[in-house]
Amino acid sequence: MSISYRKYRPQLFADVLGQDAIVTTLKNALYNSRLAHAYLFCGLRGTGKTSLLRILAKALNCQNLNAESEPCNQCSSCLDVLNNCSLDVLEIDGASHRGIDDIRQINETIGYAPTHGKYKIYIIDEVHMLTKEAFNALLKPLEEPPPTVKFIFATTEPHKVLPTIISRCQRFDLNRISPQLIVKKLKQILENLGISCEEEALFLISELSDGSLRDAESLLDQLICFDNSCITVKNATLAFALIDKSLFFKLDKAVEEYNLKIAFELSHDLFSSGKDLYYFINQLTQHYRNLIQYKLDRFPICLFGNQHSNYKASAAYYTLEQCLDILDYLIHWQQMISKISVKQILVETILLHIIRSKYRIHSSILVQRLIQLESKLSIPAIPSPEPLDPVIPTENIKPLPSPIQEPKSTPASPSTHQSRYDTLLRFAAVELEAVIKKES
Ligand SMILES: [Zn+2]
Repeated sequence: MSISYRKYRPQLFADVLGQDAIVTTLKNALYNSRLAHAYLFCGLRGTGKTSLLRILAKALNCQNLNAESEPCNQCSSCLDVLNNCSLDVLEIDGASHRGIDDIRQINETIGYAPTHGKYKIYIIDEVHMLTKEAFNALLKPLEEPPPTVKFIFATTEPHKVLPTIISRCQRFDLNRISPQLIVKKLKQILENLGISCEEEALFLISELSDGSLRDAESLLDQLICFDNSCITVKNATLAFALIDKSLFFKLDKAVEEYNLKIAFELSHDLFSSGKDLYYFINQLTQHYRNLIQYKLDRFPICLFGNQHSNYKASAAYYTLEQCLDILDYLIHWQQMISKISVKQILVETILLHIIRSKYRIHSSILVQRLIQLESKLSIPAIPSPEPLDPVIPTENIKPLPSPIQEPKSTPASPSTHQSRYDTLLRFAAVELEAVIKKES
């Protein structure tokens, strides 16, 4: 029942998912015999680099390449590559063979003619792991390779590959695979296995896999092990310890009602159920991204059932600036989370901060109010070197809400600079208002 990635690894260019432009270029190069002597495939894990480089290696030496430039997968050369026993295709793992001696071995054999096929092909996966000395040793054969030699490299971190190596290669950057394509592929796999599914569960898997087909297939495999009768959202939530989306809508309602107590209830629920805090912040960030899309009338594709109506209702509780500020705040904590030991207090602080955002005034509104007050006092405005925020039309400016009773111990905000700036502006506005009243 296992759906291991190897079993479903593409064996033809036509099977490679989401990399159409690269596939077309490679097929045309094979068809027109306009081959480069070195190729570099860059991209995230699980986007098809290894599949592409193996298909290319097969196609280069295939004895029955068809009119579509696809390898036959049946000739002795293709079968040798498939069985990992080809004498003409040498695959090196750059992570474990990263030293100068490993590259010297290439240099020693490079002059020999290919045994069976047209080309001797050197594949180096994770090429960025090579040492500087190894890269330098690779430069010479890359610069003047014999006509029967081809190099194919793959990397997840092209910025770590020496520029002198990159400039000697034809470089291809693989796309992150879209959720729709991942869901389509997962559906095909489940159909072959005769397992039913909820489409929402497949979108959930695609969301977790972050554009990596390999990760999506591993997650699906895990879910099949959990329950192979049907792939459901409920099972995915349990198996991957995800947060139920209803929690986020409960938080939105708490923001609308300015119900600070909910922060402690939600935090308690999260910790008592043993949820992963990193996942929680990730999903909360995704929730506010969805809300922003709703505010901009751009609806997320991965929503099902009553989620559309829930998001529509929640989007009305926030202003766009409020959502953007919360998103900034969450992204900051995503980076800081590993450094915090008191995780429950952190969650409470984050939730309190979000609920309190209801009455936080955006700095652009405060600036506009100051400008108005200055003009009332006939004080010449101090020219600002450059505008900090877009100017908001006067008719959109709402009166300042009544002061909020601040708790004695305010939760620490990460954007201290911004908070001080806001406080200062607010203080200035209050002072100016007082002066106006006194003078009038
Ligand atoms: Zn073949």
